[in-house]
This record gives sequence, C-alpha cells and structure tokens, in this order.
Amino acid sequence: MRCDVVAVGTELLLGQITDTNSQWIGEQLAAAGVDSLLQVKVGDNLARITALLQRTLAETDAVIVCGGLGPTHDDITRDAIAAVMGVELHLDEDVAVMIERMFASRGRKMPANNLRQAQVPEGATIIPQTRGTAPGLICPVNVGGATKVIYAVPGVPHEMQDMVQRAVLPDLLARSGEHAVIRSRTLRTWGESESGLNERLDAVIARLDGEGNPTLAFLASGWEGIKVRLTAKAPTETAAMELLGRWEAEVRDAVDDVVFGVDEQTMESVVLDLLRERDLSLGLAESVTGGLVAGRITNVAGASDVFRGAIVSYASAVKQELLHVPAGPVVSAEAAEAMARGAREALRCDVGLALTGVAGPSEQDDMPVGTLFVGVAIADEVFTRQLRLPGQREQMRQMSVISALDVLRRELLARG
Ligand code: ATP
Repeated sequence: MRCDVVAVGTELLLGQITDTNSQWIGEQLAAAGVDSLLQVKVGDNLARITALLQRTLAETDAVIVCGGLGPTHDDITRDAIAAVMGVELHLDEDVAVMIERMFASRGRKMPANNLRQAQVPEGATIIPQTRGTAPGLICPVNVGGATKVIYAVPGVPHEMQDMVQRAVLPDLLARSGEHAVIRSRTLRTWGESESGLNERLDAVIARLDGEGNPTLAFLASGWEGIKVRLTAKAPTETAAMELLGRWEAEVRDAVDDVVFGVDEQTMESVVLDLLRERDLSLGLAESVTGGLVAGRITNVAGASDVFRGAIVSYASAVKQELLHVPAGPVVSAEAAEAMARGAREALRCDVGLALTGVAGPSEQDDMPVGTLFVGVAIADEVFTRQLRLPGQREQMRQMSVISALDVLRRELLARG
C-alpha cells in the first residue's frame, strides 16, 4: 500500500508557515507500515491542485490532502477533488446542520460562507469533524479501472491529526487488508538535550530498530522540552497497549529522571496534580516572568482548588513592600528566598514559588542574562536554586516558567 501526501496552501510556498503536517503524516504512515514516497506542497490554485492530484494518483494507491477545506474563496480542495473524480459537489444537509449547530453552541450566527464546508463531492464519504467546522472527506477515484482514494483533511494541525488517526489510518489499513491498530505514547522530558537523550537511549533504540515495532521518535518542542514518542502497531488495542507499556518501561529505565509527564500532561498539570495529591495550596511571586507562570497554571481547568494566586512583584519597591524582600540586589538567592516566603505568607498558602532573574537585553545586579533564581517555601523551609538559561528575552522567560515548575515538581516528589 502506498499513500502520498499533498499539502495545500500558498502560505506554505511563501515560507509563511512550515509544513509540519506532512512531516507528522509521514511519521504516522511509516509507523503504520504504509509506504509514502512523495510529499508535495501546492498553492491555492484550482488547476494546479487538480493536475497535481491526477499526477499523484496515477502513481500511488492513495493521497492525503491537507488544507484548503476552510470557508473562504481560496479554500478549493473540495472543488479540485470533485474535478479529479469527475463529479459535482452537492450540499450535504447533515453537515450543514452540524456546522450551524457548532456556531449556535458558541452563540454566533453562521456566516453564509461556511456552507461551502458542507459541499461534498458526489460519492465521497464524510469524516465527521469533532473540533473545527470542516468535515474531512474520503473520496474513491476510479483510475484506469482501479479504485484509488483521496483523503481530504483540514490544515489546522490538531484537526488534521484527529482525523488522520480516527478515520484515515483505519480506512487505509482496511483497504490494504491489514487489521491493525496504531497507538502512540509520548513521554515528555525536561532537562536533557536531544543528543543527550539519544545517547542514553542508544541501546533501546538499537533493539527497537531490530524489532521494527514500536518505532521511537524524538520531537524537539522548544521550551516545552523534548518529547519521546513510541508508536506501536498491533492486531488489537490490547496488544498495542501491551507493547507500548513494555517499551515505555524500557525507555524510562534509561531516562526516567528527566521524564515529567505522559501524553497530554504538561509541566503545570503535573505540578498541580502533585500538589492536589498532597493537599497543598500554591502561591507565586513572579518577577522576571511577570505573571507567565500564573497564566500557565490558570490555563489548566480545575486549578483553583490548588492555586491561590500570584504577586507580580516586578519593581524592587513592590518586592520590598509586599513581600518583605530586604534592600539589596533583587536578582539573588536572598531575594528569591524572601519572595517565596513572602508569597506564602501574603497569599496564605502552603507552598510559595518565586522567580527572579535576568531576561536581558542587559545584565542586572552583576548577573548575566539568563540567570534565574527559583525560591521555594514549603512547610516553614525555604530553599533556592540558581539556573543559567539560554536564549533571548522571550525564550529565557518561557524557559524560566517550566524550569521553576520543574524545581517544585522535583521537590514535591523528593518529599514523597
Ligand atoms: P479549516 O477548515 O479548519 O479552516 P483548512 O483546511 O481551511 O482548515 P487552511 O486554511 O489551509 O486549512 O489552513 C489553516 C491553518 O492551518 C493555517 O493558517 C496554518 O496555521 C495551518 N496549516 C495549514 N496547512 C499546514 C501544514 N501543511 N502544516 C502546518 N500547519 C498548517
């Protein structure tokens, strides 16, 4: 079975966005054992998309087209597919009702344009949308007597990923006569470089390569850390989960000290869970991050049972007046300690977490750009950690958020 990939969007050609969709789809196809020999980008032009789909289908069994399913005039993937199939588009009433409902549930009236998304080529099957408004399409095409297939999925990455996993891969595998399920597990790491992880996982990777299933991929996610993803293919869900469980244990054996979460977990959700399990409340004193930590924490639904609040003590005077930081350098262990203690008292919580540092562009208190002091006040004890983070202002501040939360996470785990 061969399935090629076409990414639609003039913005991809202009370099305005990177085609991460093809990369992701390529990984999924490889894990599923489906050959993918061609990945192409094409602009929003009806004649060129149509010609490209025809050329591609001549060589392959299936094509996944991502993008161009939106409601605007330049979203023409549907029209191109109908042209390739040699059929008309018709309005699918069920899809139209679903789109209308989606808008109504958000208290908005549906713009007439959105009905374009209910246009379906004759003979196509719909992949129901669970996230956005555009449904995906499974379109059989007769090419010289052989039935081939075009899958159309939205360009928005999380919508595309949902549809590929839920509908496209199962359909492809069914067409290839294989009855297999594909499941992934992602271990999220913080504190080790990609090459460091690679080295530590050398032996596991060599054994995985030998077995061919599951596959292992590193996904560098900037200041979200590095993800290690295992993807298993098996005849049943149970067998796939068993494979993943077994190899997750192997990966953890090698790098468990830097794994902070699994799959959808984030550093902040993990820290909140650890606090909740221990019945501890949290308060913050943020200087260098100016509220970014509080923003991340309050992004997690249900944080309010643990999180009391934050004091954004940016000016030295505020640190001194509200948090009783002694006069002197404010980028220092002493200041971080006092801020953590001050937050704990002022916000009447069990744990105070404080961040003070230098985001740049210039040094401060004789400390170089990238310096971060993290203060933790917990059960009448206070301690600080000094870190040196890379990057310019934005990167340094974002890395401070996850680094400080990681300091707290490790402390909570160490305390049991
Ligand atoms: P929707 O119907 O949900 O609006 P769509 O099919 O119309 O999606 P596009 O309008 O082509 O999708 O793209 C929507 C957004 O998805 C783009 O602005 C971009 O942010 C992202 N996107 C599109 N194609 C890709 C791609 N190949 N790789 C990564 N991101 C992409």
